Amino acid sequence: MKLAAAEYEAINTLTQQTDYRGLCDCLLSSIESIATTSAVNLVEVYDDRGHTSWNTPDLEHLVVRHYPTFDGLQQPTWLVEGLAQSPQSESITTLAQPIGELICIGGLSGVWRFVEINGSETADVKASVVRIAGIFANLMRLIDRFERDPLTGLLNRQSFDYRFEDLLEYHHQNPHRLRTGDTPWLAITDIDHFKRVNDTYGHLFGDEILLLVSRIMRQCFRFDDLLFRYGGEEFIVILNNTNTAGAKLALERFRKSIEDHEFPRLDKLTVSTGWAAVGDREFSTDVIHKADKALYYAKENGRNQVVSYEVVFRDGDPGTGIEESEC
Ligand code: GH3
Ligand code: MG
Ligand code: MG
Repeated sequence: MKLAAAEYEAINTLTQQTDYRGLCDCLLSSIESIATTSAVNLVEVYDDRGHTSWNTPDLEHLVVRHYPTFDGLQQPTWLVEGLAQSPQSESITTLAQPIGELICIGGLSGVWRFVEINGSETADVKASVVRIAGIFANLMRLIDRFERDPLTGLLNRQSFDYRFEDLLEYHHQNPHRLRTGDTPWLAITDIDHFKRVNDTYGHLFGDEILLLVSRIMRQCFRFDDLLFRYGGEEFIVILNNTNTAGAKLALERFRKSIEDHEFPRLDKLTVSTGWAAVGDREFSTDVIHKADKALYYAKENGRNQVVSYEVVFRDGDPGTGIEESEC
């Protein structure tokens, strides 16, 4: 296929995509059809603490991974050079220059993306790849907005099912993680007595509190954990790459941070959380049901606590279930 025709075809298929996975797959296959002598990769880079400023990147905390395997990579030398040349902006604004064999797509929601092609491609091919990556960047921004809750900026309920499927797919491809106990965990967190906040201070003030809670949430969990605003004052957290103790610690850290935070006008605000392990090939509705049961247990037993489904409902027989605070 002639270059112009291949480029048109790439744009045509890219603009048909409606989710992140589809868009990335399409980017890779499109570039493969243009840069025919290259092994094409999409590389994602982020700070594991969620820092989004790249003015002074801390290489200790940078995670570099390949889409779609998400295998961690060594931090190559191009990264330092690439970050130094990238625009210091959180949103994708303009497409940066090719950096050696890498084309910087830009940063969005704390993740920087690069397309890696073989440096022996012609200048025309490279220019074509840069243009396609530019279209990808624009579409990415649209999809990102579509997947997020406008008030808190967390992922929205509509994106939950597809993100959950992606997660299971990843674990099927990396079964060694499950064997080492690094199963994902799903937690549902609900603000205690939130109706009182609205009734006393009004809905707008309630929205302000939701925003503050979501900010604390971002600080308490790892960047690659998935945070959703699932309902009005209900949030889902999917914890990745951690064992039971690590998941419990993170959820307790969040509970304690909310309890200790001085919210405007409120004497105290607390949250209750129920959580459960995400089994291999388990339906999202089943895991949510388990976490919900644990949440209900927390609500019934005094609120402001983190309850594990596996602990409480082991053998179908509720134990004490209340997790000791570890923070
Ligand atoms: P519990 O401790 O049992 O969870 O009590 P609660 O009052 O938090 O629970 P309930 O489910 O009775 O009430 C949830 C309230 O959350 C109802 C509604 O006033 C409020 N809410 C839901 N969505 C929003 C929203 O988007 N903005 C605001 N400000 N409030 C919301
Ligand atoms: Mg609720
Ligand atoms: Mg509530």
